[in-house]
Amino acid sequence: NAKAHGKGYHQVFEEVMDEEFRYRQRLKTDLADAIANNQLRVVYQPLVDLKTRQIAGCEALTRWTHPELGPIRPDVFISLAEEVGLVSAITDFVLKTATAECALWPDTLSVSVNVSARDLRGEGLPKSISRALSASGLAPCRLEIEVTETALIEERVIAAARLKELADRGIGIALDDFGTGYSSLSYLHEMPFTKLKIDRAFIADIATDPRSLKLMANVARLGKDLDLVLTAEGVETEAQLAVLANETEVDQVQGFLFGMPLPGPEIRALIARMTRDARGPDLRLAYST
Ligand code: C2E
Ligand code: MG
Ligand code: MG
Ligand code: MG
Repeated sequence: NAKAHGKGYHQVFEEVMDEEFRYRQRLKTDLADAIANNQLRVVYQPLVDLKTRQIAGCEALTRWTHPELGPIRPDVFISLAEEVGLVSAITDFVLKTATAECALWPDTLSVSVNVSARDLRGEGLPKSISRALSASGLAPCRLEIEVTETALIEERVIAAARLKELADRGIGIALDDFGTGYSSLSYLHEMPFTKLKIDRAFIADIATDPRSLKLMANVARLGKDLDLVLTAEGVETEAQLAVLANETEVDQVQGFLFGMPLPGPEIRALIARMTRDARGPDLRLAYST
């Protein structure tokens, strides 16, 4: 109620913008401390094989709890980190942490790490990866890098060359959030992808909207024709899972139905439970025990 306070819309707008600006400035300033003082944590979300219902690997997702402001969403702090040139330090930390964690899992499991546009431009990423792999002793084929289409828009020739070097080392390359970006299809033959992660926007309505299912099923068929592994993101309901299993060629599912991202010790316990009772027709049983 701007009027009640005698302020015009414009003035209120400016104040809100100001506040938002100061908040972002503060986060930018504090981000360097966060990295140096171990405020960042990595959590892991299972990727589940649709046929066997076993964990095929986990995606590493970064968490930042600011000492005064509380949890900050990763899409917020990652974009701020890109602006202030800190994203490569975050990627380096996540690679180191996630490969060390994955080395503790059965060797059929892999770990996926998100990288940003900046990582693909600089020289740091191949070195960070080499360091992380040799420190952890992890085989390169157990590491997967996730990139979004947005990360590939600029300098696509460089990005393609970078990704090719990684792929040649046996590292998996996943196209993340597939379908939400720009000229998706032209990237498919330029980049050495091994996996498509189909964005949850395509999954949301598949159980209720036949057109949505048709779209999803055809996207999946295209991916299969190109010999890519297909992961459906954001699977939240039994109904979506049933439709994916019965009516699409999707290989893997990921989403809250199978669990929230978990800290290392908890994901390790879950994996151990799953492997021990390799009966596991259904991963979700593991969460209720
Ligand atoms: P993303 O790579 O597409 O990761 C999946 C996001 O979807 C995660 O959000 C995850 O918690 C969320 N999610 C998983 N299952 C479900 C579900 O069933 N329903 C819904 N609604 N959401 C689900 P999160 O952890 O908040 O991360 C958001 C984005 O931030 C990530 O999207 C990724 O682009 C970026 N990000 C996170 N960690 C890192 C990192 O270490 N480096 C970089 N460069 N980016 C990161
Ligand atoms: Mg991802
Ligand atoms: Mg994604
Ligand atoms: Mg995303």
